[in-house]
Formats: sequence, structure tokens, C-alpha cells
Amino acid sequence: MAPLFGWSKTRKSKSRQNVRPFAFLHSISQKRRRFVLLLDSGGHSFPFSDRPHDCRRRLQRLQTGRLQQTLAGYIERIGKSLHSGKVSTVKLWPEFAGEGKYFDFRSNLVPASIDFVEETPLCTTLRKDGYRVRTVEHLLSALEAMGVDNCRVEIESPDCEDGAVEVPILDGSAREWVEAIEQVGLKVAVDRDGNNREKMAPFLDEPVHVWRNDSFIAAFPSPKVHITYGINFPQVPAIGCQWFSSTPLDDFFYAKQIASSRTFCIYEEVERMRQVGLIRGGSMENAIVCSASKGWLNPPLRFHDEPCRHKVLDLIGDVSLFAQCGSQGLPVAHVVAYKGGHALHADFVRRLSGLS
Ligand SMILES: [Zn+2]
Repeated sequence: MAPLFGWSKTRKSKSRQNVRPFAFLHSISQKRRRFVLLLDSGGHSFPFSDRPHDCRRRLQRLQTGRLQQTLAGYIERIGKSLHSGKVSTVKLWPEFAGEGKYFDFRSNLVPASIDFVEETPLCTTLRKDGYRVRTVEHLLSALEAMGVDNCRVEIESPDCEDGAVEVPILDGSAREWVEAIEQVGLKVAVDRDGNNREKMAPFLDEPVHVWRNDSFIAAFPSPKVHITYGINFPQVPAIGCQWFSSTPLDDFFYAKQIASSRTFCIYEEVERMRQVGLIRGGSMENAIVCSASKGWLNPPLRFHDEPCRHKVLDLIGDVSLFAQCGSQGLPVAHVVAYKGGHALHADFVRRLSGLS
């Protein structure tokens, strides 16, 4: 087979071969499919399908060389929730290998899976059989990044009346969850037969993308998980345009550089959000608030680019919903997101689901 990039030998006649250089981008025909060759920054080449609904397999779940883990102990946290303003209690329990992460709300089990995502503004909600668990993203982000592959998340609220419950917002970040996980530690999980299970991860073979208006998420093959996020608030100069690039699964990176970045909101939008029933539990203690005219109202920030880092935190939580049976949800890829939100994150995971 001809090399995919560089110099290819094209046979023009039986006696003569012609050597032809490939251009940076070059289209070829291969079994009736068209591919464009891209050169990534590391000098590797990979085929890029220009057919949006190409059904060829472009994502595979492969072994990571690590065993599935679970918590070594039990964690309990109580707190007010961001949107409903009600108090709820969350208990994290160790779980068997292969069971993955799921919520247990009054003995109704709601898997942390894209199959149960209900589109709601400003948070990620899981719904199954009429039971809803809201604002799951920060907790799931901490579990995914810290390597908690299997976990039963028991959640209860004394004053929820409509079959909906919400994860406590705590300080608006994932810091408290990470500290609690570090405190109890992790252990290798065993399945119901007492056996270990290999941790699998999705590996991307070709670039994919999703977009809504001027927001997009694109993912490119990469040897490790890499996330780059951009946000742009030209009307709020204190935030403006920010980019943050990370390798969140590298040792301690998530715990030190991402977990403590808090939810942010624009002061001028707070009243409108409250009128539609959102952020009833929001306060200066669980979010950083920025005014278009006055700048940050509750400084100091934990990082100068804290809002952008928080978007990475959210993305990890939302993309963890791609996990299955204790596997990693985050694809081994370079994910580049711009002006995304929970709905676009969910679109991205559904796109990945369509590839596997
Ligand atoms: Zn968030």
C-alpha cells in the first residue's frame, strides 16, 4: 500500500516508476471513499473523512494496561444545590468492577450515561423512569479525572417533591470532591466473581467535530488525553477571550490546576436566570460573579483564567458520560472546544457514540 504521507511511488509503466511528492493536504480515492490527509503538529499523518456520516469505525475501546478502580472507603457530603436551592445529601460507595458510575435516588438507579441525558439549561441532568438527577457534572468530573471507574452515588433530599434531586454545588468547583477522594483513596475493583477487570478507553482514529452556531468541539487523534478550551465574552471585559490547554489525566494536573476552578456567572444575567427558576441556590460563596461594567464582584480568583479552566472541568464531567461498564469516558484524543456548554458537550458525546 502506498505511504499515506511523504513520497509515493506511482507505477506508470512496467519499466518505469515515477516518484511524486504529496502536498500538505491531498485527496485520494480508496475503495470509493475519499479521505484528506492531515499533518498534525507532531508530524504524524492520519486520514480525515470528509463524509460526515461515514459509518466506518473511527473509535475503538482499547485496553489501557490498568485495572478498573473504585473508592477504598465511603464519602458523604451535604450541601445546598445551585439551581433548586434545596439541600441534598450525597453518599459515594465503592462498587464492583464493570458496574460503572450510577446514581441511586430512592432505589431508582440512573446510570451516568449519555443515554439518559435530558437537555436542560446551565447544568447536566440525567433522567430515567421519571426520576431526575440534576447538576451531575462537577461530581462526575472529579470521579472521572481521579480514576474512580465504578461508584454508586446515593443521593437524597428531604424536601424534593417532583422526583428531581440535585447534587450539592459546594463551593462551585470540584475541589471538595477531589479532596474527599484523596482522603479515602482508591483500590482495585473486583467484579461479582471476584476478578479484576482491565480498564478500557476510547481511542479516536480520525478527527470528528460538532458545532452549534459559532461554538464547536473538534477532536483529533493524539497519544494522550489533551483538552484545549476557549471562551469569549467581549461584552464582559474582565473575562474577555481566554484559552486554556491541559493534559488533565497526567499526575496531579487535574487536582492542582482544574478541580478548584469555580462556576462563574455574569451579574447582569443573574436576575433573568432567577426568573426562569435557575440558580436559586446561587451565592457569592458558590460562584464567581462578573459584572460587565464593574468586573469581578467577589475576588480574588483562584486562577487568572479560572472561568476557562472551569469549562474544562465541566467538559470532563459531561464527556465522562461516554463511559461504559467502568471504562474511561474521555477519549484518548486532543479535544478542542470553543464557546461550548453542556448541550454541545452532550452533542459531542453522542457523536462519539455514533462512531463506536
Ligand atoms: Zn460547572
